Amino acid sequence: MKIAILGAMQEEVEPLLAYFKNIKEIKLAGNIYYLADYKNHQLVIAYSKIGKVFASLSATMMLEHFGAEILLFSGVAGGINKNLKIGDLIYATKLAQHDLDITAFGHPFGYVPEGKVFVETDNKLNQIAKDVADELSLKLQGGVIATGDQFVNSNERKEWIEKTFNADALEMEGASVAVVCDSMNIPFFVLRAISDEADGNADFDFDTFLDSSAKISADFLIKMVDKI
Ligand code: SAH
Repeated sequence: MKIAILGAMQEEVEPLLAYFKNIKEIKLAGNIYYLADYKNHQLVIAYSKIGKVFASLSATMMLEHFGAEILLFSGVAGGINKNLKIGDLIYATKLAQHDLDITAFGHPFGYVPEGKVFVETDNKLNQIAKDVADELSLKLQGGVIATGDQFVNSNERKEWIEKTFNADALEMEGASVAVVCDSMNIPFFVLRAISDEADGNADFDFDTFLDSSAKISADFLIKMVDKI
């Protein structure tokens, strides 16, 4: 199967590039796409750069240009749910764009006509993740992930996102990748390890825990690929 594995930042993809062998690099549309054969799969791996626009571009390239049949996202996120501590894993059951706002016209936050507030993820891929977590006795939680072009480092904004979307974690790419995959009928999975709690210490925590949390997420994703 052709599998896309996407992150936003180099740190999120580095552990994958260190693990897979004989990687070929292809430059396209301002990014590098890393191709590797692994077991019966052909992998296309990339980091998109931060934010919804770059993530949408990379996801689209992976599906349209490289022909990926499923997409797996790996990275870090700010935790909202009190049960999520730094280093904990969450997969998205559904995702919303917290910064999408045409409420002036009476629409709910996160909604534009012909779109939907929440994009749901693929049950089969989520089940594979749960199986991996069970087998390895790893803590893994499913929940709502909210995405926006904004690094959240305030309790006020965090609490608004929690209240408005019932979100468990927040980041800057997942929902845009979800929109792309959903529009193109491609099963997708979004995994994040918590790097910070989106509060006043978030920038400091993020810098401290980016590498370790990114590796936790990438390592888990490799175990999933083994099961697909
Ligand atoms: N330090 C980086 C910027 C990181 S932006 C630099 O200077 O280049 C944060 C990245 O991690 C995004 O890709 C986002 O998806 C994720 N993320 C982690 N914690 C976040 C938070 N509190 N708010 C928003 N995104 C967060």
